[in-house]
Amino acid sequence: MSSPESVILWDIDGTLLSTGGAGREALDLAFEELFGVPQAFAGVSFGGRTDLGLVGEAFARAGLTAPDDAAPRLHDRYIGHLRRLLAARPGRARLLPGLPDVLDQTAPRAVNALLTGNWREGAAAKLGAVGVWERFRFGAFADDAAERDALVPIARRRALDHGITPGRVIVIGDTPHDVSCARAGDAIAVAVCTGWSSREELEACRPDLLIEDLPSGLDALLALL
Ligand SMILES: [Mg+2]
Repeated sequence: MSSPESVILWDIDGTLLSTGGAGREALDLAFEELFGVPQAFAGVSFGGRTDLGLVGEAFARAGLTAPDDAAPRLHDRYIGHLRRLLAARPGRARLLPGLPDVLDQTAPRAVNALLTGNWREGAAAKLGAVGVWERFRFGAFADDAAERDALVPIARRRALDHGITPGRVIVIGDTPHDVSCARAGDAIAVAVCTGWSSREELEACRPDLLIEDLPSGLDALLALL
């Protein structure tokens, strides 16, 4: 067995990038085309949720019962719209401050991987639009579980599949859901204030490390590795 390596599991939206609303717009378009309800995701809180969890809430809000094949059909339609929207306006999706340099700083000391509520193809579209998809060795995605709290154990197994023995595992994200899934998976929780949640909300869930943004928090993050 290989010697243990530190693994950083990066959230995407609000932590690495912003899509400028393209993710929500693509889901709305897909849902309206397939199920006839416009703006189905208006009022649905996206932060830290999985795409599968969001779809369930959209059906409930619309007063509809989700057909058995709702998720795969929405997935395919959503991915098509997301790719089209991101390609139509280069620069709509943008990396958050400090990136990709921060990934260069962590890479010599830890494995950069993903833990995200995005479906895998959506993650690839978003990260590909800002040129960093190739920087991550593996990931745990919405395809793997409807609940984010299930994703750290999946990420640990996936690390082993890639020949990596996970030592210290750090989850970094921008919402209380990210902190909660770190706790559920016995990982170190790092919260960053660049996304969906306020500093006060993040403080209240007592992450192991709370940073304002990646550039100012980099040294403290590196000290955890
Ligand atoms: Mg996020």
